[in-house]
Amino acid sequence: MPEINILSPHVADMIAAGEVVERPASVIKELMENAFDAGAHSVTVEIRDGGATYIRVQDDGKGMAPEDAGIAFMRHATSKLRDETGLEAIGTMGFRGEALAAISAVSEVELLTRQHGDASGTRVTLSAGDIQDMGETGCPEGTVMQVRSLFFNTPARLKFLKSDRAEASACVQTALRCALGRPEVSVRLLRDGKEEFFSPGDGKALSCVYALLGRDTAKDFLPIELSDGDMSVSGFVSSPSAGRGNRGMQFFYCNGRYIRSVLLQTAVEQAYKNTLLVGRYPACVVYLKLSNAAVDVNVHPAKTEVKFSQEKRVFDLVYHAALAALSTEDRTAAEEEKPKPAPAPVYAAPTARPAPRPDFYRSMSAADFRASNYSVRPSAPAKPVEAAMPLKAYEQPYQTRLDMTPAQAPVVKPQESTKIARNEPADSGKTVENSVQSVEKPTLPDYKLIGEALHLYILVETGDELMLIDKHAAHERMIFDRLKQQDRSVMAQTLLEGVTLRLDGEERELLEQNGELLSELGFEIEQYGENDYILRTVPADMNPSDARAAVEEIFEKLRGGKAPDPKSARDEILHTVACKAAIKAGYITDRAELDRIVQAVLSGDVKYCPHGRPVSAVLGRRDLDKLFKRIV
Ligand code: ADP
Ligand code: MG
Repeated sequence: MPEINILSPHVADMIAAGEVVERPASVIKELMENAFDAGAHSVTVEIRDGGATYIRVQDDGKGMAPEDAGIAFMRHATSKLRDETGLEAIGTMGFRGEALAAISAVSEVELLTRQHGDASGTRVTLSAGDIQDMGETGCPEGTVMQVRSLFFNTPARLKFLKSDRAEASACVQTALRCALGRPEVSVRLLRDGKEEFFSPGDGKALSCVYALLGRDTAKDFLPIELSDGDMSVSGFVSSPSAGRGNRGMQFFYCNGRYIRSVLLQTAVEQAYKNTLLVGRYPACVVYLKLSNAAVDVNVHPAKTEVKFSQEKRVFDLVYHAALAALSTEDRTAAEEEKPKPAPAPVYAAPTARPAPRPDFYRSMSAADFRASNYSVRPSAPAKPVEAAMPLKAYEQPYQTRLDMTPAQAPVVKPQESTKIARNEPADSGKTVENSVQSVEKPTLPDYKLIGEALHLYILVETGDELMLIDKHAAHERMIFDRLKQQDRSVMAQTLLEGVTLRLDGEERELLEQNGELLSELGFEIEQYGENDYILRTVPADMNPSDARAAVEEIFEKLRGGKAPDPKSARDEILHTVACKAAIKAGYITDRAELDRIVQAVLSGDVKYCPHGRPVSAVLGRRDLDKLFKRIV
């Protein structure tokens, strides 16, 4: 029985209109959603090259009547909505009746469809939206939608496509997201004839997660389950020890639809407060079920954004579900660990870090870090302060700092830059030029290092001013500048134990594009399995225990399109290295180290951190006097 009708212009206008076909992955999403809407139990998705040449989605759903097969490609043709009253409560994935029209307008489409129980099916072919051929045919029950030569008639759009590899991995990501939302549907994805994934479709979320996200992720998942009246949530959140460097493993679904939602993301992450280290993110698969009226999916054409009518209730539900799962794990972990004498905590709450004792040197250069091994270090033999602090000492390799002493004298007269310039060989014209420049550079003002406040701000008195320096930001800048000056390679250190990395398709693509650059900058990444890689070296400046977090952060930056060209990619990577190598807030820094930072700032070389934040602030005597109402 035919069931597709054309929406009236009035209803059509009420629906947020939009471009649905951006790239091959958008075709995959629309076709898979149509298959789900048709009640399919099993869906096979096939792509060739990047998907632009060939996409095929076959389902065993209810199929279309011969009368509907052609109409399906008309704009606002849908069987899922009749009038505006239906807009209030949409239970299907599609409803705009736009997808097939949009897809067929920019490609060559072949549709084979047969309703259950019908003796034969219908075949329709279209090119650039025009029906070429339509007739009866033999075909399996269900629907096969084949899309070839995407964007063949819109060369501008074609030009915007990325490499086949990048488009293919976007297709795989999209198909995976769709499949993960439907544990009751078995989804198989073939890429260039090879199976990328297969979900069993047994209705169990765990087997779906296992099949699609892999064993490693699934084994760290804790189930969540909670309901509140007409709302319920189920799924999984990762145990706090399995935090990740980005949010790439967070999946949220609302009534089977994959959505992006800051609200849900915050609700989950809030539950980890104080148990996940700062900068680490939980993995999760969250299935939210609400009455259709409680959610508006009609805000965005791609329908990945939704509006909840009762945001607070949704937030609380998800937050408490995650919290309950995490506290259950706490209890089980505690019980399991009981017999052991002193169980090492799996994760440490950042606030629970013991206050550093003054005799702990927690300076964060790689060399210092390893040498001190977080234990008490005997004070280094005294050396004259002057000798220990050449101006711009930060340009020297980090290791030299180990034998530097804390400055004892409160007032330090640093060396002048001219002295350094004079040390240079004077046999080339270039050097003379350099010397001239250096001579012109003003001598550093005298200063008094008062100390460090809040384990972050260095207090310095110069002349009539009080200067506050953000030590992390300043140090980060110093390292960044030094790394940047090394015109090509950055010195690397080999990790004792390589760090294993599992890269998804997009990350593999990014690695292929940026591998050479990464290795120049000290990160050697070797492949040892299909998706498995091993990180062998990191820049010498970095603490090896930051290796994984650094690589994850770099991928996140590259993935986020922050680095469209090699130069900005290089800078972004160096930012990460500098940030990881710089002394962190919260750590006690020895005085010599503080002095070098102060000098770099006073010399005018260090003004902003690599992200553009200022590294210092000045309070003049007048400012202070005003503050205390000595003057008005
Ligand atoms: P929408 O999904 O918003 O209704 P589409 O353009 O995606 O719009 O599809 C138009 C119509 O074609 C659908 O409403 C449905 O009736 C029919 N259709 C599309 N794909 C399938 C399929 N795989 N199985 C059965 N019917 C389908
Ligand atoms: Mg649709």
